[in-house]
Amino acid sequence: MRLNDLYLTFKREFTSKRFENPNLEAKSLIQSVLNLNNTDFILKSDKNLSKEDIDNADRALKRRLAGEPLSKILGIKEFWGLEFTVNEHVLDPRPDTETLIEAVLDYVDNKDVPIKILDLGTGTGCIPIALLSEFPNAVAFAVDKSADALSIAAQNAANHKMSNRITFIESDWYGGIPHQQFDIIVSNPPYIVESDIAILSKEVKNHDPHMALFGGESGLECYKNIFYSLNKFLIPDGRAFFEIGANQLNDIMRLVDESNLLYCESRADLVGIPRVVEICCGDK
Ligand code: GLN
Repeated sequence: MRLNDLYLTFKREFTSKRFENPNLEAKSLIQSVLNLNNTDFILKSDKNLSKEDIDNADRALKRRLAGEPLSKILGIKEFWGLEFTVNEHVLDPRPDTETLIEAVLDYVDNKDVPIKILDLGTGTGCIPIALLSEFPNAVAFAVDKSADALSIAAQNAANHKMSNRITFIESDWYGGIPHQQFDIIVSNPPYIVESDIAILSKEVKNHDPHMALFGGESGLECYKNIFYSLNKFLIPDGRAFFEIGANQLNDIMRLVDESNLLYCESRADLVGIPRVVEICCGDK
């Protein structure tokens, strides 16, 4: 079977299963599994494929048709231009979360200063690793209550040669962090309203860990816990950055106020939804 025949077969399969972009699905699946860049994909379209290549691609196709995201099939997801190992124990890094990285970059004037960062609920470790890739003299503490997630995060830190700059801590929020203060605290906590499980895509619902998705009945439970002790862990003129869900800005601003913290500003994602809030301890 030639590469192009495989492509046409896969395209038909995706079309018949009503995938939104059958061409793109077929192309990116084949390219990733067979490790072909865009040029190879065109130049080698007449090439006969080995049985092994066809079998590998077929196995991936079956998983994708059953609704598994390509990232989970490949075990890799790109974030901030870096490659991250992913599996069923970690939330896939999402483009939305790059808004949080941009917000921190805007806030820090001098990239060379030796800042200390705390990431609460690190998952793949994509947030601290992206930040440390920008701040060569920074160090980070990364917390997660899932030991399985931490082992993926540690693997990602090692792949990016950052193991010596990130301390991983198995902890439910601040519980296990040795008492100290951080210049910057970041988090993309679980914030989906529990009853919204019904409207989640099956890619998310069936393949991202629920522990990383749901923020209780209100979606706000994790923020309440995090805000409660924020001022103990943030230096007096430090700043904290949180990803939030669509429509949560007003509730978050109220929570910030109730927690005796100061709301500084918010930052919108690529489609204009307020996606990141910046908070400081202030002096209330
Ligand atoms: N942004 C993710 C989603 O909507 C949710 C991640 C989270 O709860 N922090 O799928």
